Amino acid sequence: MCVTKKSKELVNDAACEEEVVERKVHEDFSRIDKPFGLEQHVFNWLWLGTAHVFAFYYLYLDITGRARTSTILFELLYGYIGGLGITVGCHRYWTHKTFKANKPLQILMMIMQTIANQYPIRKWSLDHRIHHKFTDTNADPHNSTRGFWFSHMGWLFLPKHPDLKKKLKTFDMPDLESDPIVRFQSRWYWTLTAVIHFIIPIFIFRYFWGLSMLHCIAANYRRYVVSLHITWSVNSVAHIWGEKPYDKNITPVENPWVSFFAVGEGWHNYHHTFPWDYKAAELGWKINLSTMFIDFFAWLGWAYDLKTVSQTMLKQRLHRTGNESHNLPVIDEANCDKNDFDYSVPADVTELMKDCIHQPVWGWDDESIPEDLRNVTKTLRSKGIK
Ligand SMILES: [Zn+2]
Ligand SMILES: [Zn+2]
Repeated sequence: MCVTKKSKELVNDAACEEEVVERKVHEDFSRIDKPFGLEQHVFNWLWLGTAHVFAFYYLYLDITGRARTSTILFELLYGYIGGLGITVGCHRYWTHKTFKANKPLQILMMIMQTIANQYPIRKWSLDHRIHHKFTDTNADPHNSTRGFWFSHMGWLFLPKHPDLKKKLKTFDMPDLESDPIVRFQSRWYWTLTAVIHFIIPIFIFRYFWGLSMLHCIAANYRRYVVSLHITWSVNSVAHIWGEKPYDKNITPVENPWVSFFAVGEGWHNYHHTFPWDYKAAELGWKINLSTMFIDFFAWLGWAYDLKTVSQTMLKQRLHRTGNESHNLPVIDEANCDKNDFDYSVPADVTELMKDCIHQPVWGWDDESIPEDLRNVTKTLRSKGIK
């Protein structure tokens, strides 16, 4: 309200304008919090339930030889373009702020993210930042201590835990709420989805394969459902089965299979230990198409300021919290080789890293990262340096 209740006097123009903008931002985002006026989990039953029915129908047609098997090639291609929109755009760029991107790359990533149709960037990032801050507690949207199926997909079909509801209301993301591309996508999400997620692929199935409309829709849903399960496996499989070389005290694990299907997102023990690393893994291109994508655009000059963990920081952390399954020799603190330090670092990074363990961080712009720790993080391809 721009008029005070008591006096009915106008408040000053600046405050009024601010309020109008705030309300508009809220409207842009709230249309996603209750899609078509339905509670999120109720909407998911209808939305994702329908998607699964069509996906299994097309799988059945395919198995029984009544579908065009070669559509799988386009399904994989379009599915993985959307997948990279999630892993590179939504995850490593918007959620974790692990690198910077110019406007054309931001727009490209937003379009790719819309192909995947996993809700708008802002909502996806909010859930994911909360996941990193409160991993495997009741405030974690896909708390894996509630079992495989809950963390895989059950969390989307059940009412939210009260602890999570509280966090969703209070968790601040001013960076994304003021990002014009994020706001544009949230405002026009269902229109963009209709065109990019449905109409374009359906047209391609029809034009190139001559499928009936029903089969076009079913093939598109199969592509969608497969990509959903791949994403969901990061929250389920990569929190259960695998090694913990970097931090044995946390639930996320290293799972090469998840990395294979989820283009590099299965190196999850590393990722939760160092969520600001643009590789989301220690080794850059090892089963990590998403890192290749970022490196390619960094080479073009579209991506820059890539954050990564220095060898010193890595070794100190391995020494302190690793489970000794890592094949790098851990640092010998007594005979620490000073040459190993890439540049001036505080004597004891270990002390700094302790803060991060007690207070997990969501990414590079999280205020809880100690300033000293920022100073020992490497930044690759800073703007102007190729
Ligand atoms: Zn993450
Ligand atoms: Zn996780």
